[in-house]
Order: sequence, then C-alpha cells, then structure tokens
Amino acid sequence: MNRALVFSLIAALIGSGSLAAAEKLNVVTATQDPASLTREVGGDRVEVTSIGKGYQDPHFIEPKPSFLLLLRKADLLEVVGLDLEIGWLPPLLEQSRNPKILPGAAAYLDLSRGVEILDRPAGAINRSMGDVHPFGNPHYWLDPANAVRMAIQIQQKLAELRPGDAAYFAQRLNDFKLRINDANKRWLADMAPYRGAKIVTYHPSWPNFVKHFGLQVAGTIEPKPGIPPSPSHTLEIINLIKQQNIKVIIMEPYFDRKTPDFIAEKAGAKVVVLYPSVGGKSGLDDYFKLFDANVNELLKALK
Ligand SMILES: [Zn+2]
Repeated sequence: MNRALVFSLIAALIGSGSLAAAEKLNVVTATQDPASLTREVGGDRVEVTSIGKGYQDPHFIEPKPSFLLLLRKADLLEVVGLDLEIGWLPPLLEQSRNPKILPGAAAYLDLSRGVEILDRPAGAINRSMGDVHPFGNPHYWLDPANAVRMAIQIQQKLAELRPGDAAYFAQRLNDFKLRINDANKRWLADMAPYRGAKIVTYHPSWPNFVKHFGLQVAGTIEPKPGIPPSPSHTLEIINLIKQQNIKVIIMEPYFDRKTPDFIAEKAGAKVVVLYPSVGGKSGLDDYFKLFDANVNELLKALK
C-alpha cells in the first residue's frame, strides 16, 4: 500500500467517525463537582478531567505544569465562578495557549450564571480583610436544586458544541433529574427531624446545603471567609455555642483541626468533618455519594 493511500484511508476513517474515541469531547473542569455532573450528562461522549481535587481547598489549588497541557487540549472548560478560582486559574489560562476556553469565549462555561447564589454582598465589592467570597457564596453546588441548574447549563453547552449528540445529552439530563429527585426525597426525609437546628461551620462552605435542609449557621470559626481563626473570635464562638446550645461544628477536611477541637472541648460540642466536594475522600466518586456521605455523617452527629 503506498503512503498516499494510507493517509487517505486514515483521513476517511477520521472523517467517517470510525475513530469514536478521538471524537469524545475533552472537558476540563476547575473542580470535581462540575466534573461529576458533566459525566452524568455527557455519558460516553465526553472525557472529563478536573484540575482541583475534592480533598483540596478549592480557593487554593497549587498550579502544576501538567494543568497547562490539560487546558491546551480542552474542548470545553467549566468553572464554578464567583472568583472561587481567582487565586490559581487565571495564570494557568494565560499560559494555556487555547483561546477558545478563555473567559467570554464559546468553550468557557461559568456555571455560576444559572444557579441560586446566597450571601451576595449588598454594597460595593470589598476584598479587604481577605474576603474570598466577594461576589456571593461560590460553594453553591451543595444544593441538589443547584446541581440540576448546573446540569442544565452543561447539557446546553455540550449540545451547542456537539449538535449531533444533542438528543443523547437531553435524555441523560432527564435521567439525572429523575435520579436526583428520588435521592433528594430520601435526603430530605432523613434530615427532616433536625429542621431548625443551629450549627457552627469552619469556612462558609455550607449556606446552600443548610438552607436546603432547613438548618441554620449561627457562626463560623473563620472571622471572615479565608481569614484564619483569631483568639478573640475563637472565644466569641465558644460563648455563642454555649449560649445557643449548639451541638455540632462542621469542618472541611483540608483545615487544621486544632481550633475546632479546642472550641468543641471548651463549649461541649462535637466536630464533624463533612466533605464539600466529590472526591473529598476515597469513595466519594459522584454527587450522589457525596450527599449520601454528608447526610449520613451529619445525622450521626445530630442524633
Ligand atoms: Zn469559600
């Protein structure tokens, strides 16, 4: 077989779609929660890789050279937005040499555009004091209703980029909605006895989560989002927990336990580690498992 013929055969194979693997849409996500939802919607038509891992603080991901290669090959980039990734993603994007995934371009999807955002600042945006939530709370994925809103945006973007698979993505989205609706009924029923319960959290990762389950955050161990605990604020939290008879302190797995344990001991509360993201520990492989684990841990602590 001569060379020209081999090349034309390869070209024909690629053109006809016989090399199916090569046609998968290459999706890169900033964190693992959008990645999980993209797998739900995209099925076997997408290859999804997350830059940040669920056991890392999503505000502070250490950049690696391998991330540049991921971004360079991406057909779609999904971000949580609201400046969650401001500390690490922009420099990577600048060096990625992939103009189609830059903010505002067709293959850049900011999922915060179509979800319910809590804690939006009323006045001017203020980053002083290191507030890492300047545009409202970016941990919005911790509400199943927002997970559906994210999945809808993902389905629309996938269909836009791969119109030939639009029906497939629409069917997968419907299936996801049915399954999360069923799971959510179970989560709500399990948590129902604890509606109105007050908790303290380390970082404000949980406003959407607690709103969904009718809980209340009475205070945070961080004096402001992103600011480490101070002795005076720690004392205030101890008093608050005692006065309001709060039983549970929720902390994320990537913070130091020292202050939460100290507060718990002085105030007579319990520290429970909950996972803000898919991949927060081994076995939390998707959005369903994340909620199963968190509801389960919280129930044990509240009982
Ligand atoms: Zn945060």
